[in-house]
Amino acid sequence: MGKIQMNPVVEIDGDEMARVLWGLIKSELLEPFIDLKTEYYDLAMEKRDEADDLNTVEAAHAIKRLKVGVKCATITANAERVEEFGLKKMWPSPNATIRSILDGTVFRAAIMTDCIKPYVRTWVRPITVARHAYGDIYAAAEYRVPTPGLAELLFTPADGGPPVRQTVYNFECPGILQAMHNKDSSMESFVRACCEFALSAKQDLWFSTKDTISKSYDQTFKQLFQHIIDTEYKSQFEQAGIEYFYTLIDDAVARIIRSEGGVVWALKNYDGDVMSDMVSSGFGSLAMMTSVLVSPDGNFEYEAAHGTITRHYRRHQLGESTSSNPIASIFAWTGGLRKRGELDGNDELCAFAQKLEDATLQTVESGIMTKDLADISEFKAGHADTFEFFSAVRARLGDPG
Ligand code: NAP
Ligand code: MG
Repeated sequence: MGKIQMNPVVEIDGDEMARVLWGLIKSELLEPFIDLKTEYYDLAMEKRDEADDLNTVEAAHAIKRLKVGVKCATITANAERVEEFGLKKMWPSPNATIRSILDGTVFRAAIMTDCIKPYVRTWVRPITVARHAYGDIYAAAEYRVPTPGLAELLFTPADGGPPVRQTVYNFECPGILQAMHNKDSSMESFVRACCEFALSAKQDLWFSTKDTISKSYDQTFKQLFQHIIDTEYKSQFEQAGIEYFYTLIDDAVARIIRSEGGVVWALKNYDGDVMSDMVSSGFGSLAMMTSVLVSPDGNFEYEAAHGTITRHYRRHQLGESTSSNPIASIFAWTGGLRKRGELDGNDELCAFAQKLEDATLQTVESGIMTKDLADISEFKAGHADTFEFFSAVRARLGDPG
């Protein structure tokens, strides 16, 4: 029997322990079974420095071309990293660069297994948090008001029309002031990305804001959602048997906790930041969180939500054994391969992605797991090191062909 054939995906390699896991996933779990075709970009810290970070930009454009990318965790440079690697400059976060080129929305969901019970008992299916990653407080103007005085919003139209002023507050004492913004183009991209994701996951889409209080800002988000769903997605949602549901954010929080999960929960930037942490802790471990960047024109980039696991890598460099969990990175690959298969009608590739996910979770359910999971699982057994875990998953996959 020959290996499974496929069209290429964009492969983005990364740093430290995540890179070690990445290599093992390919050599142990993918290449024995698939004639793996990738367009490879090495975004290791030193390679980005060599290429003046242009390889990050090229990788993002490659995803636009091939539609599907898989990404290993990468170091985001900071002052210590500049010193450690002798970098030419403090290069920006690759994720931020790729996101701005793909105009994407980030979807995060927990991978669930039977032996790790969510802290929230009602959750039996994963909840995906869809976070709009533009504007709001992350790009706000702020001012510490030192004395009494008048605060106004001033808008000056570019076409030379009359300026618009609105009183914010007439301060009688010191205070604080903030102005934030968003753009129709970005909000509309966000809505479309959420709709595409809900359709591809075949899950209901929820959106929640505080539109009763924020009658123009949040209200605009709500109206754009409703308008785009009504005019562009209504029949597709009906065909897929999924629904769009809007509710006030307070109500949504209460409903999420009581729900069984299995929904895509779209949130504005700050709400998504906070709620994704709440949801991930509710489910269990950071090493079990997948993340996918979806662009409105249907490009997909899959990655693990965790970082390069520097602390483990330092031990690995010293030749010590580590117990690093590769599951989120395995699921980044299976997510990318399944999407490739779906886009190309390659059923064999989709079936292999499923088989690998099943083998990985069955390994955990058989009691073989890394330390992060052993610490929170129902089993009271010891834990496997990184290599033992890979061998166990490999054994479960059986012989190629
Ligand atoms: P991290 O790599 O996510 O690791 C933080 C801690 O979480 C680890 O020390 C480990 O805890 C635990 N952990 C995370 N993933 C694990 C896994 N797969 N298996 C077992 N334990 C796991 O975050 P960080 O240490 O803050 O960041 C390290 C580097 O990653 C930084 O340079 C940062 O810029 C980068 N980063 C990249 C991305 C990305 O590319 N998407 C995301 C976040 C961070 P214990 O040590 O207690 O075992
Ligand atoms: Mg957060």
